[in-house]
Order: sequence, then structure tokens, then C-alpha cells
Amino acid sequence: MTCLDCQKELSYLDHRESLERLNLELCPAHRARMEKLMRTHKTPIEAIQLYYGLKKSGTRAMLAWWDGKKTVDLAVSRVKLNIEIDRGHGAMTHDQAMNDLEETMHSFKNGFTHIRIPDFLVQKYYRETLSNIEGIIEGLKNNIKVV
Ligand SMILES: [Zn+2]
Repeated sequence: MTCLDCQKELSYLDHRESLERLNLELCPAHRARMEKLMRTHKTPIEAIQLYYGLKKSGTRAMLAWWDGKKTVDLAVSRVKLNIEIDRGHGAMTHDQAMNDLEETMHSFKNGFTHIRIPDFLVQKYYRETLSNIEGIIEGLKNNIKVV
């Protein structure tokens, strides 16, 4: 059992506590760093879980990335992909829907792809969600090559 971030060996207790709190294998230092991010930037735990999933397959992403206007939960700058975790499951109001559409429009204008992923999707179908994101990244990479 080693830390996903620094490969440091984890004690049984550290391992258990990290799994209980974040469902990720992290050393106390990296766990504290992620918990701080969750407090200060309101980064959703699902974004952190996806971040480490992407890292595992060799994709560098950034958590709580400032895009000049707001903080994006997770960004893959190489392919200009912004990922936001959607936490509101309730019925969407017209205003929210229009705000989302405008945000997406601004992202596209700036050359960014903006996707929203409901938090429950990450919780329930982590593997499938991750592999779809990897597919999107792959697709974006190919599009960049064409241009
Ligand atoms: Zn670590």
C-alpha cells in the first residue's frame, strides 16, 4: 500500500483513514493537501478521485484550476478540457440551464471544451466515467493533431 501521489509506504492506519475519508490511498501529507483543497476551493471529492484516476493512466490534470473567471474543478490543459462536477441533482431552473449554456459557450469561444459530470455518476460508475473522460481526452488530442 503506497500513496497514489508520492508512492510513500502507508501504514495500516493511514491507509484505512485515507480510504474512509477520500476513498483514495494517500499518505497523510497528500490527504491533508486534498482536504485543504476541498475546504478552500470547494473542490468536490469526485474531482479528486477522477484526478488520481487520470494520473494513473498518465494524464496530467489540474485541480481547482483558475481559468481567469472562475475556478474549474478539474482541467486537462493540454487538450483544453474543463471538467466540472455537478452537485445539484434537483430539477434545473431556466436560469441555471441558461447560465450553464452561456458558460459552455464562453468556453468554446476560448477554445475550451467544457463538460459537466453529475457527482452521482462518479460515485456509482467511477470506472466507466473515467474511461469516458479518457476517451474525450483522446478525441480532443486527435482533433488538435488535425488542426
Ligand atoms: Zn503522498
